[in-house]
Amino acid sequence: MSEMYSANEASIGYVMGMWQSNLGLDDWQIEFSLQDDLEGENETLGFCSAVPNSKTAIIFLKKENQGKETLEDVILHELIHLMMGEYDQAVDIAFEHSNTHIGMAKMVYDSGERTIQSIAQAFLRLRKTMEKAKNG
Ligand SMILES: [Zn+2]
Repeated sequence: MSEMYSANEASIGYVMGMWQSNLGLDDWQIEFSLQDDLEGENETLGFCSAVPNSKTAIIFLKKENQGKETLEDVILHELIHLMMGEYDQAVDIAFEHSNTHIGMAKMVYDSGERTIQSIAQAFLRLRKTMEKAKNG
């Protein structure tokens, strides 16, 4: 059984600041907003709304039912989206023009999501390995 975890703003701010800096996104203005529920599918734990031209973004996070680990994972995932802004725009365009090829657009979207998830997991492992090394 997974432990219920209520996200708190200070820990989110810390985790977000750490990864924003590690990912080289210091020139972005990134806010977060805790939500009781997010639109869309039930398993959606976060999404971001970004304006790449002005390097501003809001990351929406589901407030309840997230483990600490999951929260960091979700934050990382959304920050990586910011690094892939042009890709995300291309995916949006693919959907807009995909009347007869919606399956193709969805395949490209899904593969992007899986790639982002793999990268997020890799960064998490790296952080843990480095912490372990630091703490002996
Ligand atoms: Zn995503």
